[in-house]
Amino acid sequence: MKRLKEQDPEVFNLIEKETDRQNNGLELIASENFVTKAVMEAMGSTLTNKYAEGLPGKRYYGGCKYVDIIEDLARDRAKILYNADWVNVQPHSGATANAAVYLTFLKPGDTLLGLDLSHGGHLTHGSPVNFSGITYNAEFYGVEKETGRLDMNMIRDKAKKIKPKMISIGASAYPRDFDYEAFRNIADEVGAFLWMDMAHTAGLIATKLLNNPLPYAHVVSTTTHKTLRGPRGGMLLIGRDSENTLGKVAPKSGRVKNWSELLDSAVFPGTQGGPLMHVIAAKAVAFGEALQKDFVRYQEQVISNSKAMAARFLEMDYDLVSGGTDNHLMLVDLRNKGITGKDAEEALGRADLTVNKNMVPFDDKSPFVTSGIRIGTPAMTTRGLGNEEFRRIAELMDLVITNPGQESVISKVRDEVHEMCERYPLYDFVTV
Ligand SMILES: *Cc1c(COP(=O)(O)O)cnc(C)c1O
Repeated sequence: MKRLKEQDPEVFNLIEKETDRQNNGLELIASENFVTKAVMEAMGSTLTNKYAEGLPGKRYYGGCKYVDIIEDLARDRAKILYNADWVNVQPHSGATANAAVYLTFLKPGDTLLGLDLSHGGHLTHGSPVNFSGITYNAEFYGVEKETGRLDMNMIRDKAKKIKPKMISIGASAYPRDFDYEAFRNIADEVGAFLWMDMAHTAGLIATKLLNNPLPYAHVVSTTTHKTLRGPRGGMLLIGRDSENTLGKVAPKSGRVKNWSELLDSAVFPGTQGGPLMHVIAAKAVAFGEALQKDFVRYQEQVISNSKAMAARFLEMDYDLVSGGTDNHLMLVDLRNKGITGKDAEEALGRADLTVNKNMVPFDDKSPFVTSGIRIGTPAMTTRGLGNEEFRRIAELMDLVITNPGQESVISKVRDEVHEMCERYPLYDFVTV
């Protein structure tokens, strides 16, 4: 970044500071990851200059012959990763991918049944502060109090009662896998569309370590920057048979359209303008990486680290929602430790351990305070940490959580955090 340093030292220095921050802390936010330099190079390329509204071969602008090939590469690689029939790689983010899903399948006022935000759901699944909750009639299902897990009978009862037009699956803080077949049976029973938002788990699904929703959901949305470890962005997919089981689309203006065509138009011109071709190129690069054997080993390690860390927390009498984890994250209910999520996040931050406070199911505190923290392993697994390190991190976190006001403890933990960071330097990893 020589040019940037010369031309705009103010911005350059802040980027340097942020890079140092990433390098010198243990990043445990479950939705974050570190992309490869190759992905970053594609994002920082000349492609940012190009307007390419439309789809490959059907653009509204000239000069698209190379970006067409790039977007096709991204689409083809994503299809292989998920065994998909159709994909759209243009959504700027997970939230805009979801906006296209709503625009395609619901009309304002229609009923959606989604996972409660405080039980691990996402804002875009019907929260009253999000367009989804403002525009549509959002109803929610939650986890069972005893087990912290979804109970398909409870969900079926709720679906039968409210008769939603669409059921959403997917979460930002649910440590277990989903039974997509059971969800599809419920959707069929009540005549609802089934939508899976795999934003968090896309990398684990691509490597077949978690169930693949594509054979069951009518549409799947995702981000590309969480476990999938690509550039910040979104994507939409349809599985091999989903289009057939969806039936015909009632023609709005004469010609009968496929759902995939409607989803394409819901992305552009429905909710977006020009696609970010530099990000789409970076998606192609990341999907190429995800098709390598190393990526499977990485995702296996993500889960193995998550389980090792969860086991250590349980040994130290921590209360994990659902009693553990099957994926890349765990949700710690801190009520038996006498500290709020907010205070724990703040104290851990002082030791350069980055986590986020998080509501736990049946939380009695507000979203600004919360009773829990969410911890994820994808980012630090990318840096090369293994089971032993993650067990040690659980111990370090315990030291902070049980001594939040003791500066001497915090500073000792911070020293060990920095030592660990030095052993696993950022951007010295992954060669795929
Ligand atoms: C992260 C996330 C999103 C939103 O992705 P953005 O790229 O931040 O817009 C949507 N749904 C779920 C389930 C998520 O976890």
